[in-house]
Amino acid sequence: MNKSLMEENKVKLLAEQKQLRITLGHEGKLEGKGEFPGEYKPTFTELGSEEGENASEVEQFANDLSLSQDLEARLTKVEAALKRIADGSYGKCVGGDDIDEARLRAEPAAETCIKHSK
Ligand SMILES: [Zn+2]
Repeated sequence: MNKSLMEENKVKLLAEQKQLRITLGHEGKLEGKGEFPGEYKPTFTELGSEEGENASEVEQFANDLSLSQDLEARLTKVEAALKRIADGSYGKCVGGDDIDEARLRAEPAAETCIKHSK
């Protein structure tokens, strides 16, 4: 594993982790106490009294929720990559191959080589 690439990617991953944690509202909170994994829960700001308003707020809630789930999934992936950097397995595919450096440059959180990516 190319050490300087690993260091570069560690910086990128830490920055992404921080950004995701802020976006998801994790920053400064304890983990694991919320109803949703990682504490984030979109809130209904104000329920409208009209049926139409309610429907659009429910829709908005669903959108926020699915967005937050995408971000949670991304955060999990980023944190897994940081863990692999810490334990020395970073840059190795499940099959034991080295992940291509170009691939790691494009996607610092890549878990597999191109061959095993599907
Ligand atoms: Zn592989």
